[in-house]
Amino acid sequence: MVLKVKVIEILFYDSNRVKLVVEMPDPSRYSTLHAPHIPRLLFKLFPHLARHRCENDNGYTFRRECQETEIPHLLEHLIIELQGQAQRVSKLKGETQWNWREDPKGRFHVYVEYDNEMLVLGAIRTAERIINALDSKSLDDIDTEGEITKLRRLAAVGAEVCGPSFSPDDAAPAHPAALDMTGREAGVARGEQTDE
Ligand SMILES: [Zn+2]
Repeated sequence: MVLKVKVIEILFYDSNRVKLVVEMPDPSRYSTLHAPHIPRLLFKLFPHLARHRCENDNGYTFRRECQETEIPHLLEHLIIELQGQAQRVSKLKGETQWNWREDPKGRFHVYVEYDNEMLVLGAIRTAERIINALDSKSLDDIDTEGEITKLRRLAAVGAEVCGPSFSPDDAAPAHPAALDMTGREAGVARGEQTDE
């Protein structure tokens, strides 16, 4: 059974932040523990991911955290990474939350910052496609360079159509919801792209 991560809702949440509702159709298989090949292949394709900062319960590096983390958390970091590869962006942050006492099991809320509206939309769909391709080990379907080239074109259109990027100073401060972390029914993980 494939994991098939699905972004079912994209909401422009703040001036520089999108909220995604993400679902894993098989709620018993939502973690990299169930699919260790996904992070392994992903770090091969995008080595810079290893330099992402990641706030997690264990204080692990992002690479270590990826041995056992929620797939939507990987998606979050990949969306940030793709934006950074396509254009020079401010330091972008993300956050993945879930609370299955209120939501159906397998649903996640992923927040990702952006500078360019068109680019973030492209990065979301590209990241979704890449993770699903990695899950079915269809590495041949992924042309990393080609994907980045397409995103660069999209970023140029976005800059033209949607106006200049927001300055990080305009950004509303993040208000991470207070969540009970008992068990793994609920949790939060945050990611951030590091400076080169
Ligand atoms: Zn993280």
